[in-house]
Amino acid sequence: MKDDCIFCKIANHVIESNYVYEDDLVCAFRDMNPQAPTHVLVVPKEHYANIVDGVPGDTLAAMAHAVDEVAKAEGIREDGFRVIANTGDAAGQTVHHLHWHVLGGKNLGEGLL
Ligand code: AMP
Repeated sequence: MKDDCIFCKIANHVIESNYVYEDDLVCAFRDMNPQAPTHVLVVPKEHYANIVDGVPGDTLAAMAHAVDEVAKAEGIREDGFRVIANTGDAAGQTVHHLHWHVLGGKNLGEGLL
């Protein structure tokens, strides 16, 4: 755990959040500034800066499983939803702990965002 990382603290319950799913490797909690009716962040409990920071395969698989669990719990799995991983400054990544945005609950259209 990285002591100055807000998502490390949330993922390891140093700071509590609004959790939607959790297992040994990952957790999912609601974004504090939601951009859609469902806007949940899936994060690993270990600290990785982003998706190209040597993330182990079992962690990536756990994140994918968590996306499925979130989609089921939120009732957006059948209609469809969007998963986004902002990576680095050019993508506007503001929290430098790997996270996947899961967005859904409305028609997101064909544009990127
Ligand atoms: P990104 O631009 O991909 O780095 O997005 C970071 C996201 O984290 C933004 O959508 C923020 O609203 C969200 N966020 C930042 N701090 C918190 C927090 N303490 N709890 C929940 N969501 C947060």
